Order: sequence, then structure tokens, then C-alpha cells
Amino acid sequence: MNLKPTIIIIEDEKSICNFMETTLNAHDYKVICASTGQEGLSIIASCLPDVILLDLGLPDMDGLDLIRRVREWSMIPIIVISARTKEQEKVLALDNGCDDYITKPFGTSELLARIRTALRHRQQLEAGTLASQEPVYTFEDLTIDFNRRLVLLAGKQVHLTQIEYKLVSLLARNSGRVLTYDYIIHQIWGPYADNSNNQILRVNMAHIRRKLEANPAEPRYIFTEIGVGYRMQESQKPLD
Ligand code: CA
Repeated sequence: MNLKPTIIIIEDEKSICNFMETTLNAHDYKVICASTGQEGLSIIASCLPDVILLDLGLPDMDGLDLIRRVREWSMIPIIVISARTKEQEKVLALDNGCDDYITKPFGTSELLARIRTALRHRQQLEAGTLASQEPVYTFEDLTIDFNRRLVLLAGKQVHLTQIEYKLVSLLARNSGRVLTYDYIIHQIWGPYADNSNNQILRVNMAHIRRKLEANPAEPRYIFTEIGVGYRMQESQKPLD
């Protein structure tokens, strides 16, 4: 029986593929490579990998189409491998159902962190516990107790408005993943919110940063993904 998580890499650039395969093998993942979209789709259907790493620029197919085709029947996490300057492409991929992205060139620790987050998120979805997952977020000095709706910084309570708390807890419950501006606006302000203007979101995030970050210009907890959205530092495993 093979209990290693299986990862499929769909990427036509051999050097990137080899780098990822070597890295992931060394960290105890089983890796399958595909260099075209068609090959990728048939391997996904036959092997049911735990995570899909997907380059959007494939020789035979638009990566966005591949995401849509997979999402018709499966919620396997998809992490897109994207070029640095293509914010709009990242947003489109996220809106079409990919879970996260990683920007070229990327390092080993970033790749492993994205995969860990995707696997953790999938387990939570499968267990149906997403709404009530770990009751506490913790990273360095910051603790969020979801049951008691408490935010603590170095043990001291931080006073947030209702909206600020909703924002922080949404990001913290999805820690390690990027959430798009649209997604956040709809989650906080409802399905009819005007998402053409994310000014109100930016203002609230600035207030939150002032309350949580020692230096808002160099955040430790909540990062801006320029042109895409926000990502909260992955929660540390709660101590037991
Ligand atoms: Ca490519």
C-alpha cells in the first residue's frame, strides 16, 4: 500500500518539471509528470492524484480549460504555476476553480508550503470540517480563538470592529492560501456587494494591519498579493 500523497505536474518545460520532481521525491511525495494537457487529463482521471501542479501555458490546451474540465467532476486541489507579471491570469485561474498559485521562479520551501496547504485544505473539505476546523489560529505572537472570537497579540486582546474581525477570521481560516479581492468582498459584504471597487476592503485591511503588525510596511501575518488579493501566514500547528 502506498500512502505517499501523489502529485501530478503538468508542465511542458522540462527543467522546471525535473526540479519539482526531484524536490518532491526528496520530500516523500509520489510524482507523475505530464507535458501536455491531454496527457494530464487522462492521468488525473486514471490516477486521482492528491494535488495537481499546473502550468497554464501548455502546448495543446489553455490551462484554464483544463481547470474547468477537472472541476466538472473533481475538487482535487490545483496549484497553478504562473509567471510573475500575469496577475490577471492568476485571478482568472482562481475564479475558474484553481486553489492557489506559485510564481516562477520559486524556491523549494515555497513549493512545499503551497502543497502542504492544499493537502490540509483538501482533508478539511473531505472531513466536512471546514467551518469548524482547528478552533485556533496561531503564528508567532498572533492567536485567534474562533470559538471565543478573540484576537490576541502577545497575549493581549486586540480590539477589532465586526468587519475587521470577519476579515481576519476569513483569512485565518484559509491561512496559507491566497483569497482574491472578489472572493473576500463577496464573503464579507454579501453576493450583491459592489466588487468593482475594493477601496472599502483596502481601508479595512489597512486598519487591521495597524492593529496587528509592528511594521505594516513589512507585514508578518497578512501579505498583499499585488493585483490578486491577500494571503495570511500559514497557521502553526497548535501545541498539544
Ligand atoms: Ca509552458
